[in-house]
Amino acid sequence: MFNRLSLKMGALFFVFILIIGGLLYFILYINLANERINEIINNLLARGNTHSDVLEDHFDETTMNHVGLMESASDFVVIITDVKGDILVQSNPLEKEMETVIKRTDYNQIPPEGVVIEDNWKEKQYIATDSPITIDGEHRGHVFMFANSKQVRSILDQLSNHFKFIGFITVGITIITIFILSRFITSPVVKMKRATEQLSIGNNQVELHTERNDELGELAKSIQSLSNDLDRLKNERKEFLASISHELRTPLTYIKGYADIIHRRSLSEQELIEYIEIIREETEQLSKLIKHLFELAKMDQYSFVINRELVTLKTLIASIIDLIQPVIQQKNISVSLQCPYYIKAFVDPHRFQQVILNILDNAVKHSPKGSVITIEVREQREFITITVLDHGEGIPKQDLPFVFDRLYRVDKSRSRKSGGSGLGLAIAREIVESHGGSMRINSKFGEGTDVLIQLPIISKKI
Ligand code: ADP
Repeated sequence: MFNRLSLKMGALFFVFILIIGGLLYFILYINLANERINEIINNLLARGNTHSDVLEDHFDETTMNHVGLMESASDFVVIITDVKGDILVQSNPLEKEMETVIKRTDYNQIPPEGVVIEDNWKEKQYIATDSPITIDGEHRGHVFMFANSKQVRSILDQLSNHFKFIGFITVGITIITIFILSRFITSPVVKMKRATEQLSIGNNQVELHTERNDELGELAKSIQSLSNDLDRLKNERKEFLASISHELRTPLTYIKGYADIIHRRSLSEQELIEYIEIIREETEQLSKLIKHLFELAKMDQYSFVINRELVTLKTLIASIIDLIQPVIQQKNISVSLQCPYYIKAFVDPHRFQQVILNILDNAVKHSPKGSVITIEVREQREFITITVLDHGEGIPKQDLPFVFDRLYRVDKSRSRKSGGSGLGLAIAREIVESHGGSMRINSKFGEGTDVLIQLPIISKKI
């Protein structure tokens, strides 16, 4: 239970707030208490001074008695002495501590504004002040004022009771606030923890609230998108595996079928040659598919090595056109290469040859006899763009978003016959992206297709 994040956070907040709050309250209490004590002592002195002022004007028995009578009804004690310290009037019965204080006084050292002669309210029963009576420059007596220390203590008790009350309320509010706050912070964390647990056991459809705009909201969004990605990947993998098994099964069925025919029947030499040719073609198709799949697998594992060098694009593309010259000639297609000599790209020539070959191969396959394929290379400020443009059959709109998907073929049966595996564009795009570039395809069904490669110019300088 103590391992729970909300509890740990709550306890930590509580301790911190308690320490900080306690310290602040303590300082405030000390200041207020000192202020109150000083106020009481100064009031006592001011009261004594007022009496001494009155007595300086009328230093007679009646006035003294009057002062004594007044204070007998108050919480204070007044003692009026003559210049030697003999008591003339006292408002209350004399107590031992008062006598000690009066005797201890140095009568000649008292300044005209009076002094506090006892302020030890903690230990002594009384705090006391002494105000001298000076008439026409002649020192005539003293007004001693006493206040019971209990008064000070009770005022401080009151103050500390207030502080205790406020302290309790503060602690209560702090606990409630921390509870709400820690729940507010930790409950989404707990939900995310549960969601990741679900993800780890393979349940990829988690629902998290992602409305928050803070870091926790960001985290929830990341987990949510991770869950969606995992779900998508799971489905893609399922579909991919189903497609692969289909792709492998088809040529194997042909191979096995024709091998059985050869095995069982006595065939003419012509038939034998024909069937063996089919088996050879299917085997070739199979090994090409496996090679492509292997390449894609390597790309997925990032064990795909790219050996970049500065390549003159015109030379590279011209050599690829040469490579497929027989097919081009067979279809009477003319390929126009528009590429300035100076354009060089920092790419892996072997991999890039594969990219252009795949695209060009598609263009040739899907173009009618006697048509023109244009390859245009341009260098702009930030990119090198390579466009392969054909006037072939084009790609239907509904298929266009999927042509880069693995094993996706527009016309399955025809594509198989022409040796297509549905992996050419997927491989090409992986290679381009691993060079930091991007690849797009635009097409209009019945009009033609252009494939666009963009390579960041930086790839030339790395
Ligand atoms: P494949 O190896 O089967 O050609 P690709 O991944 O290279 O697979 O292409 C995917 C699909 O996109 C192909 O089946 C084809 O129908 C379509 N396609 C690609 N390039 C072109 C093009 N230039 N013209 C028409 N269709 C094309």
